[in-house]
Amino acid sequence: MPPLGLYVHVPFCSAICHYCNFNRGLMDGPLKQRYVEAVTAEIRGAPGRFGWLPGETRADTIFFGGGTPSLLESHEVAAILAACRTTFDVAPDAEITLEANPESAVGPFLEGIRAAGVNRLSLGLQSFRPAELQRLGRIHDVLQARRACASAREAGFDNLSLDLMMWLPEQTVEQWLESVVGAIGLGPEHLSLYMLELYPNAPLREAMARANWSLAPDDDAAEMYEAAMARLEAAGYGQYEISNVARPGRESRHNLKYWTDGEWLGFGPGAHSTLAGARWKNVSATGEYVARVAAGLPLEVDRRDLTEEERWQEAVITGLRLQRGISVGALAARHGVDLDARFGPDLQRFREAGAVERDGDRLRLTRRGMLVANDVLRVFI
Ligand code: SF4
Repeated sequence: MPPLGLYVHVPFCSAICHYCNFNRGLMDGPLKQRYVEAVTAEIRGAPGRFGWLPGETRADTIFFGGGTPSLLESHEVAAILAACRTTFDVAPDAEITLEANPESAVGPFLEGIRAAGVNRLSLGLQSFRPAELQRLGRIHDVLQARRACASAREAGFDNLSLDLMMWLPEQTVEQWLESVVGAIGLGPEHLSLYMLELYPNAPLREAMARANWSLAPDDDAAEMYEAAMARLEAAGYGQYEISNVARPGRESRHNLKYWTDGEWLGFGPGAHSTLAGARWKNVSATGEYVARVAAGLPLEVDRRDLTEEERWQEAVITGLRLQRGISVGALAARHGVDLDARFGPDLQRFREAGAVERDGDRLRLTRRGMLVANDVLRVFI
């Protein structure tokens, strides 16, 4: 069995951003304390649940996502990591990432989690323009973002990832590039560039209507993406996934499991797991999650075994998010699917349009193709 990834969902935030559609709620100190007890109990219960011996199953990545994991105390992060280490055979060189927001990524906390073994920090900066941060409902400012990066370096983090959001209301291509240049200036090892997605009832949608803010046209969004990637490449970053770039060797090992048909276990409210051909998620509401753990009740909802069709579809769809694309031969050997015979004619128009390319055995999206990835990937569904 290849090493697992472990995901720990931390569902608390200091404020709710105007665009957020994640599983999170406002910070609640007593509930957070009960959550930490519950999530450590859930982790410790994994061997019994899956019929493993404690310490028998190897894990080589751990990822604290949220929500805002930097709202935990460093001793709480240490307690959760201790639970992981007594339950799993955590590799000595495991990648251990924690997502943090700038306002709570402060010196003593960062030093504490670094000492506990966190070795990769992912900071949600989103923008270097105050007006954009305000529109998004972010509660940090640009100075806090810069301080958080400096504090992370002082605490000993040599693997830093920054998140930026593009295609924001009223944002021009030039303004977007200001943020890209600002982020490059902080010298992170990794960057994630996400395009704003507005879910139907997002408060930002209503604010945009009230204030008459608009999004730049699609052509500008394409220019934003391509210009950012060009700047990042010129600065020494390599694109390895639609939204992610890294310095050589600093790709996110945890996230690569999601894109390369890997297996992972998720702990905490709403966390997803994929193991042995099955997928499930935990109950989402934090109060219910904590109560169920305390009562020894099952946490899983929406469990299902993936069909063979779903497994190869997912291998193709996630694999094509990667810059290196997929091996057509490996897919045939693992899943028995002949992509050329089955989809060659449908893919031809995307090849002619320069969205898809074939390099020997590998099929991949071009950068232009990454902009229309959803259209291309629909071919396989
Ligand atoms: S900090 Fe992240 S998880 Fe929390 S509300 Fe903002 S976007 Fe959502």
